[in-house]
Amino acid sequence: MSLANGRPYVAIPGPSVMPDRVIQAMMRPAPNIYEGDIQDVTERIVPKLKQVAGTDDYVAIYICNGHGTWEACLTNCCSRGDRVLVLVTGRFGRIWGEVATRLGLEAMVMDFGKSDPANIDQVRSSLQKDPSIKAVLVCQTDTATSIRNDVEALGQVMKDLNHDALLMVDAMASMGCDRLDMDAWGVDVVIAGSQKGLMTPPGLGFVWFSKKAMAAYHKADLITPYWDWGPRANPNLFYEYFYGTAPTHHLYGLDVALDMLLEEGMDQVWIRHKRLSEIIWDKAETWGPIHEVRLNVADRAYRSHSVTALSMPSPKADQLRHMAEHEYGVTLGIGLGMAEPGTPEAGGYFRIGHMGHVNAHMVMGVLAVIEDILPRLD
Ligand SMILES: *Cc1c(COP(=O)(O)O)cnc(C)c1O
Repeated sequence: MSLANGRPYVAIPGPSVMPDRVIQAMMRPAPNIYEGDIQDVTERIVPKLKQVAGTDDYVAIYICNGHGTWEACLTNCCSRGDRVLVLVTGRFGRIWGEVATRLGLEAMVMDFGKSDPANIDQVRSSLQKDPSIKAVLVCQTDTATSIRNDVEALGQVMKDLNHDALLMVDAMASMGCDRLDMDAWGVDVVIAGSQKGLMTPPGLGFVWFSKKAMAAYHKADLITPYWDWGPRANPNLFYEYFYGTAPTHHLYGLDVALDMLLEEGMDQVWIRHKRLSEIIWDKAETWGPIHEVRLNVADRAYRSHSVTALSMPSPKADQLRHMAEHEYGVTLGIGLGMAEPGTPEAGGYFRIGHMGHVNAHMVMGVLAVIEDILPRLD
């Protein structure tokens, strides 16, 4: 028998739960895109986006998902044949490196496995040996493994070495969830999308960039018309923000979502995510000895505050997800990049998304559902 009727809860690592205020802001007829309200909305979104990322420099907004921003940031800063250092701590970092290769860059991949963060000392020595490296690519949170890399420490290494490389951070899963102080930490490029910590439907991609990245842009030879961030960050005419029709309803939603983050205060937003994560870890660690549930990342310092990857003997994770969705109304995330799809191990992984518009009772509800199911799987 199913207990799933009622408000469904999609607890996957994006798209995340949308606040009612965001949904309501989007429920309106199409606006004029040549003048009026939509231009004001866009102009007030820009400073709020910068504030959320901790930068006074630039931001470009694209109509795209996260994959689009991977391409956007590389094409604006790099030239064919440039060498980039790709720090891989899961599937997302690996694909970003593949994007770099396909764009004609020389991607030097440092793979740190599926449970450990990027090793800062190894990165330091690679940078020391090679002054020609143009950019360092890292996911703050790799959503597949839920490893959280120490971006502040990487920024410090770049400063210590006074290296010319740009520090590029994929903050798709962490923006609005984990602390990120772009300017203070010396990060040159940050990418994110609308559908995770920013609580808006999928469809907007953001690239924040520093003055150093802007200088690199003036020498880059991979720039294409659509991805060109110059006019988007400094438009003379409104249509240049989006190189075409504005993503009207997404902008209305995003405007409110950013207000909600700033009303709460970024420090408080980050503390809320950290505290909710600790509630999840505390509980999941008690399941381990009884139900063979394992958190993917052992050290709390390197666990994401927006997504938690777990494993259990296959196919129990698949069964758990299926029962949670169909009997309890909670959708959990699938394992990603942990085992080859179709192999016997593939049914042994799941993830809990806890990013964006989440509070204690939502997270505790997910935990209680899992706890109710676990003995039924033994
Ligand atoms: C979600 C995600 C992406 C990809 O975003 P899409 O919108 O699915 O293209 C990239 N990197 C990270 C770290 C992510 O979490």
